[in-house]
Amino acid sequence: MKKYMLCAASLLCFNLFAANTLPLGQEFEIDSQLFSPQTGKVQHGSIQTMMGAQKSFYQKVGDDFVVEGDILVNPLEGKNSTSKGAYRRAHCSRWPKGEIAYEVDPTLPHPERIETMVAYYRDNTKIRLVPRSNQKDYVYFKNNGNNGCSSFVGRAGGKQNINVPDWCGSGSLVHEVMHALGFYHEQSRPDRRKSIKVKWFNIQLKQWGNFFVSPFAKTKGTFDFDSIMLYPSFNSFAVDPKKPTITRRDGSTFGAQRRGLSIGDIAALAQAYKDEVESAR
Ligand SMILES: [Zn+2]
Repeated sequence: MKKYMLCAASLLCFNLFAANTLPLGQEFEIDSQLFSPQTGKVQHGSIQTMMGAQKSFYQKVGDDFVVEGDILVNPLEGKNSTSKGAYRRAHCSRWPKGEIAYEVDPTLPHPERIETMVAYYRDNTKIRLVPRSNQKDYVYFKNNGNNGCSSFVGRAGGKQNINVPDWCGSGSLVHEVMHALGFYHEQSRPDRRKSIKVKWFNIQLKQWGNFFVSPFAKTKGTFDFDSIMLYPSFNSFAVDPKKPTITRRDGSTFGAQRRGLSIGDIAALAQAYKDEVESAR
């Protein structure tokens, strides 16, 4: 059970402190598009998760398979898949010592946005991102042009990409690294009905899969509207983009922030990685 805790802990939040974030500051915040989901042809089938194979809707975007706009997954219809290594990433797990080794695509414009994100984790959390030497498991920040930001959830094993488009600033990179650390989206938490409503009639039918509850996650605490892992009420999955796809229970709308981790995000991260960090230092 314990091995699944990281992903479960992804949705922890601590609403007592919810009115705050620890902002990145003004350094290198490109983020010209706060929310730019990757969409493509919708498919349905089994995907690999840390709980084993799960049936899910996902979208094929280039060579990637994506759920919830920016989470990379591995379909298990490998023989029909064009995704190399589709069987390789078979689990979701924590990063030992709370340390992520990384490489940066040499063609990536503005690599200093990676450095800003790395420094942010170092200064505000116990998580460390270190340039790769010979680590087997590592994250590769891949130049993704004008396309979307996306990441696998958790340590997948071997090289795992985080796709970094031109518009993606340090705040969005913090969000994607949270996925790599094992965190899902806040709006996917199984107990979300206490806090938000999903406006299914204003969601494009082929995008419904992006609004399903994450069946893999357990929760603790209450919904964190300040989380960097939350999507906004208004987004491009909508039939009418002037109307929300998700609201608070009272019908009011909310935005999303990519300024930095919320106090709740930081507390959840500390709890999820407590054992790894303590074993390392
Ligand atoms: Zn995301």
